[in-house]
Amino acid sequence: MYKHRNFWFAAVALLIAVILIASTANLVALVTMALGATAIYLLITALTRQYPLSSPSVSNKSESRTKEIFALGKLFEATLDEMREGLLVVDSNMQVVASNPAAHRLFNSSLKRLESQRLTELTRNPAICGAFMDALKGIERSGVEVETHSPGRRVFDLSVVPLSGIEDKEPSVALGVFFDITKLEKLERVRQEFLSNVSHELRTPLTAILAFVETLESGALEDTENSRRFIAIIRKNATRMQDLIDDILELSAIEAGNVDVRPEEIELNSLTNDVITALHAKAASGGISVSNRVSSGTIVFADPRRLEQMLTNLVDNAIKFNREGGSVTVGCEVGVSSTRILVRDTGEGIPAQHLERLFERFYRVDRARSREMGGTGLGLAIVKHLARAHGGEVKVTSELGSGSLFEIDLPQLTH
Ligand code: ADP
Repeated sequence: MYKHRNFWFAAVALLIAVILIASTANLVALVTMALGATAIYLLITALTRQYPLSSPSVSNKSESRTKEIFALGKLFEATLDEMREGLLVVDSNMQVVASNPAAHRLFNSSLKRLESQRLTELTRNPAICGAFMDALKGIERSGVEVETHSPGRRVFDLSVVPLSGIEDKEPSVALGVFFDITKLEKLERVRQEFLSNVSHELRTPLTAILAFVETLESGALEDTENSRRFIAIIRKNATRMQDLIDDILELSAIEAGNVDVRPEEIELNSLTNDVITALHAKAASGGISVSNRVSSGTIVFADPRRLEQMLTNLVDNAIKFNREGGSVTVGCEVGVSSTRILVRDTGEGIPAQHLERLFERFYRVDRARSREMGGTGLGLAIVKHLARAHGGEVKVTSELGSGSLFEIDLPQLTH
């Protein structure tokens, strides 16, 4: 192509020369024509060298390079669009020069584009503005915790870095990345709450144990009657600590998925009888009657040990939070796709505002009363997690003054 083009220019120049010679037959014109043709030839040559589109190999290379850059650009754009992290670039005037959709959502802006807006117009959050301002002064900022409240509360970890051109001394733009850490922060809060609850729960019986040991040490040991009472109190508190630790370990294992749930066909009537027999003494001491209304021959599909544990926790609560002379009934409704086990009591009921949080760890309606009755505050949390491990659910309804109803729904066996 390059060679062809040169040939054509030479041919055109020659043609002009011939025409001029033919028309003037004059030497000056001939020289002028020769100079003109040479000039045109040189100019074209220079141009084709500067923009070397003529060589076939060079042309292909360049084309594929352009395609490559285009593809990279598209890929980069798609990456920015799909990123969950918000990305924002501001120039030295704090004006947005680039952003991605996640950043747009973060500022909940009604604007179509964030570009060319000043950052201070998008947010008044001092943590965000301060971090970008620092970066424009050349100070890199990372781990800046930013909280936004519209639409809901969200927490971000913001990192802003200064960027400058090769020649520039000062940073010309600041690039910020917003990492959404809302979930992580919630998990961390739950973990801290759990730790502080555990410490608190353990400290109470431990304080009692230490106090009674001190009393015994400072002379009460000689007082046989009282010392027996003190030792009984120490035992009660030590048992409480042991129960608490057992429940905590149990709950952690279930939550971590380390508990094997092996469902099998269980005859519910006899399992209910076992649970009632185990709690008989407790019920009798409060004059509470516990009755089994499960029809004999009712089959449920569950892990026997785990189902017994769930039922024990619910019946135990139904006895504990009942009134003197009250009653507890255990029943069952077999549906098409699930089996529902019901534990009903005639206790004082649970105020509506507590129902939603009742299955949370350590949540109690009356903390002091629960402790006094040896409760750990983990029984219902364990029931909830075990029901879920079976692919089921547990729920509660309650009427103040009349009693409560706990229901475990378990998926029905499918053949
Ligand atoms: P614990 O019984 O050890 O306190 P649970 O997790 O089993 O802990 O129960 C949490 C709380 O729910 C109890 O402290 C009590 O306030 C309330 N609760 C549970 N079952 C009943 C019930 N049948 N009637 C009234 N309140 C109940």
